[in-house]
Amino acid sequence: IPLRAERPAGRPVAVPALPRSADGRVADRLGRPLRDLRISVTDRCNFRCSYCMPKEVFDKDYPYLPHASLLSFEEITRVARQFIALGVRKIRLTGGEPLLRKNLEVLIEQLAQLRTPDGHPLDLTLTTNGSLLARKAAALRSAGLRRVTVSLDGLDDTVFRRMNDVDFPVAQVLAGIDAAQAAGLGPVKVNMVVKRGTNDHEILPMARHFRGTGHVLRFIEYMDVGATNGWRMDEVLPSAEVVARISAEMPLVPLEPAAPGETAQRWAYADGGGEVGVISSVTQAFCGDCNRARLSTEGQLYLCLFASHGHDLRTLVRGGATDEQLAAAIASIWEGRADRYSQLRSQNQPDTLPAGSRRVEMSYIGG
Ligand code: SAM
Ligand code: SF4
Ligand code: SF4
Repeated sequence: IPLRAERPAGRPVAVPALPRSADGRVADRLGRPLRDLRISVTDRCNFRCSYCMPKEVFDKDYPYLPHASLLSFEEITRVARQFIALGVRKIRLTGGEPLLRKNLEVLIEQLAQLRTPDGHPLDLTLTTNGSLLARKAAALRSAGLRRVTVSLDGLDDTVFRRMNDVDFPVAQVLAGIDAAQAAGLGPVKVNMVVKRGTNDHEILPMARHFRGTGHVLRFIEYMDVGATNGWRMDEVLPSAEVVARISAEMPLVPLEPAAPGETAQRWAYADGGGEVGVISSVTQAFCGDCNRARLSTEGQLYLCLFASHGHDLRTLVRGGATDEQLAAAIASIWEGRADRYSQLRSQNQPDTLPAGSRRVEMSYIGG
């Protein structure tokens, strides 16, 4: 079967005539609140990481979304405002590679002006592959971005060039991290996806490099997202092993989570050299308090990273719905949510995907 990247049509969204609760907040069918919104601003990327956008699928003939399909900055900001009314306190811009979206600073300026119902600004952040960060960090900070997360899968230039699969040098990403710190976007989180046999020998060099810098290095288990990356369990290196390898050389002690629903388990260097995190999406599911919604590049609401379909908010936005109607529709979708894919997988429960459907790609709904 040829590999195919899925971008299914969103389910039509009905507008319920629901009166909202007094404080506007919502919870899903498992009692999980809505706190974190990830917005994908483009489905394009200048890297071809094999675990995300393998070259064979995302080639020169791949049908990326036309510009008219993308939510405009005004549409994104309007939708984000409704999410905030329902409880969202943190917004992460992602993609594809978010820094490829033209004039992204303008969107950041708009989002930075939004306030929670009690008048606080949002925790506004962005995940990037770092390739354009050295050039853009200062402008992003002045537009109102608060922090960045940079993905970096190894320090060795040969390993890194192979993993991004476009021969991009590691030095430019490191320069991007320095520029982000200098611009006031720190502490910078650095995310490393670990693939056994591909870059797991980079765990210790990465830990040594970032220890004591104030940057927070986090190791992500290689996940079975999408339908094109050829995922195999034997290429997953469990986080417990990452912690053991680091701890053998630089002893670690566990830290309490900083916020409920946080994806990373935090560890501190016993000698005060800072902290590292591990994101054990495969070996230790954290669906129980997953409070994350994802808005795709063309305005579909996804309730889980492993979902096979989204809910088409763009048609509502472009079809004349009022803000109240939009908020009621989002609330009712969230209230119907029961997704907990990783938990079911770890209990070896059968796949919950409807027959014939496939998971959407991470580059489309954002990580
Ligand atoms: N292009 C940006 C970047 O790479 O940071 C933002 C989008 S990317 C999809 C978001 C995050 O998802 C990155 O940290 C990336 O490493 C992670 N990611 C992508 N595919 C993954 C997979 N199969 N397993 C684990 N993490 C993955
Ligand atoms: Fe691009 Fe990020 Fe996916 Fe790598 S992980 S291909 S940088 S979107
Ligand atoms: Fe959340 Fe879905 Fe991931 Fe579970 S599998 S933590 S519900 S995104």
